[in-house]
Amino acid sequence: MPSIGLTAGRCIAVHIPPKKEIMMNPIYHRVQFMESAAQIDTAPKDQGIEIAFAGRSNAGKSSAINALTRQKSLARASKTPGRTQLLNFFQIDEKRRFVDLPGYGYAKVPLAVKAQWHKMMQRYLNERKSLAGIVLVMDIRHPLTEFDWQMIEWCENSDVRLLILLTKADKLKYGAARNTLLSVQRELQQMTVSVSVQLFSAVKKTGIDEIHAVLDDWLEFAAD
Ligand code: GDP
Repeated sequence: MPSIGLTAGRCIAVHIPPKKEIMMNPIYHRVQFMESAAQIDTAPKDQGIEIAFAGRSNAGKSSAINALTRQKSLARASKTPGRTQLLNFFQIDEKRRFVDLPGYGYAKVPLAVKAQWHKMMQRYLNERKSLAGIVLVMDIRHPLTEFDWQMIEWCENSDVRLLILLTKADKLKYGAARNTLLSVQRELQQMTVSVSVQLFSAVKKTGIDEIHAVLDDWLEFAAD
């Protein structure tokens, strides 16, 4: 049904196409916790395709994983005490996985643990052949922390694809969220980093379709 718009005093019919419902690939809803690994040597076999989620502690990484898989508590596994410094693997299907990387940025963490985290992340990014890309989750109110830059630099150096989510976008007004998006994009451009940045909210479910499109591509679903 066309709606009516007013242009310079004239009444014209404007056709507004219905909002296209994008169906989520149902496979994401079936993602299951697989196992945790303290090092990459004890991780599941390095075959198939893996996408890793990284982010500062409390940035909203677990909530993002839960929203993207439309599951309430999938990523809670990685919050279990003792598992926070581990690589937590989730099975998508027999050849595809998500990995929840240890959260970083706790000021309280002893130096030795930080050093271990550095070593593990660097090895993971350099050596993991199945790694198809990193989704780096940042709280939109505190983007591009020192730790985020470290991840970005590692991705650049190891030629790993990167998607940045500015999450908790619902915490800002639309205009402020757009401005942060633009300024983050500008800052990355100035550092000659070419990467997609996406507004996201696990609460409002903003950005999910766009991120699924990237994940579908990285996971090569079209090739099946
Ligand atoms: P993680 O440590 O990075 O896994 O962070 P969590 O996913 O546990 O989120 C940290 C806090 O931020 C929790 O209190 C979440 O409820 C909250 N949170 C996460 N995502 C969002 C979001 O999109 N919007 C809002 N308003 N709060 C969020």
